Amino acid sequence: MRPAAARAAESLGAIVRAEARAARAAAARIPQPMAADEAYMALALDEARQAAEAGEVPIGAVVVHAPIDRATRRPLAEPAVIARAHNLRETTQSPSAHAEFLALEEAARALGAWRLPDCTVYVTLEPCIMCAGLMHQARVRRCVFGAPDPKAGACGTLYAIHGDERLNHRFEVVPGVGREESQRLLREFFAARRKGAPAAVKGAAGGSTRAPGARGEAEGEGVDRP
Ligand SMILES: [Zn+2]
Repeated sequence: MRPAAARAAESLGAIVRAEARAARAAAARIPQPMAADEAYMALALDEARQAAEAGEVPIGAVVVHAPIDRATRRPLAEPAVIARAHNLRETTQSPSAHAEFLALEEAARALGAWRLPDCTVYVTLEPCIMCAGLMHQARVRRCVFGAPDPKAGACGTLYAIHGDERLNHRFEVVPGVGREESQRLLREFFAARRKGAPAAVKGAAGGSTRAPGARGEAEGEGVDRP
């Protein structure tokens, strides 16, 4: 028979191992940041699909509010989707009706505040200068986007508004989340429009004389906003 001390040490070791296993299991249940970003991007992609159905270039956005205690950095509430929107430029004939611009305006209305420091913007296409500028103005915490925009991207591709140290607010940018699906939606939309498919040409049934691509801008890889 082993001494009592050895048996005690052995059972203590077993307890420590069990606790470590429990801690690992708990950690596995906590949603990882990437998984959460992908889940919110899926909502933005749903918005992009709605845009396509309405004859708009398929770009979607959601705003997630996740308030934290400034001192301790601890969450004060569960993250919540407070705004969702899609591109409505054709419908509204407004140059500012980009998905993330509309979503930020809706988020500000929802919170009753122009400052949105606890917000992350999810948008399927890299923000343009205007939208990155609005994110700067709204003091957002993060922007997660899908596809880079080689012709207008202002969060790393052509400009890096989010990280410009001359500005009085900077925000984190996470590119490439949902990139493939975002690009697929854009490619399919422009391919259908070039063929004149009714679903993708707004106003075709109403006798619009506007031909697909009539704005005279190149559509490149389909990540352009024409
Ligand atoms: Zn924009």
